[in-house]
Amino acid sequence: MSLFAFNRPASDDEILISAFMSAGVDSIKIVDLKFHLSFKLSWFAPSDAINFIQSAVSKRLLSKKRNVVELSASLREMQEGRNKMAEERRRVRNEAEEAIQSAIERKGFNDYFREIHAREEVIKSFRVLLKNIEIKVQKNPTIVKATVLISETDANIVEINANALEIIHECDNFPDMAINAGKMCRHIAALFRKLQKMDKELAIELIHKLSVGAALWKFSKI
Ligand SMILES: [Zn+2]
Repeated sequence: MSLFAFNRPASDDEILISAFMSAGVDSIKIVDLKFHLSFKLSWFAPSDAINFIQSAVSKRLLSKKRNVVELSASLREMQEGRNKMAEERRRVRNEAEEAIQSAIERKGFNDYFREIHAREEVIKSFRVLLKNIEIKVQKNPTIVKATVLISETDANIVEINANALEIIHECDNFPDMAINAGKMCRHIAALFRKLQKMDKELAIELIHKLSVGAALWKFSKI
């Protein structure tokens, strides 16, 4: 299988420029160019390859000195233009990738918080006072257990297991909303509001994991 397994370009100019670029040379013996065009690139039968080279010389697309040919000045210019364009495309692509990367890195807790919660649930979570949210954090494996006291009679338990990637919780909206829409309920919003005050690093680690890898998580009822 040839290294350059692409189709023969349509024009003679392009064939010659591509052949010299793929051979990685500025000048080449006619016999080597014939070999390159026929056996390496499989663009011509050997006898057609030699005809093509001779015709390119007579059209002054190639300049020939004894048994060596090189691209004409105008083809070299085209080649340089193509290199510049390829370089420009690479530069633009790299810049775009860097912009995306830095936008990701600039994302903070609040961005993820808004992403994983339905707006309505966030508003409802703010009705819960922080002192009514009780959190216990266990490390190795990391398990965050919270009791969210909405009212004296309405207490909800949320358990986030960061190692098993599982949230165990029971309320009307859970786990359906999480599974179907990828959105968490008011109790989880409340948990994160409090956790961010207690252990900012853990809060961002967990919310990031939930936001970018929602599909990996398991959501179950108690
Ligand atoms: Zn809930």
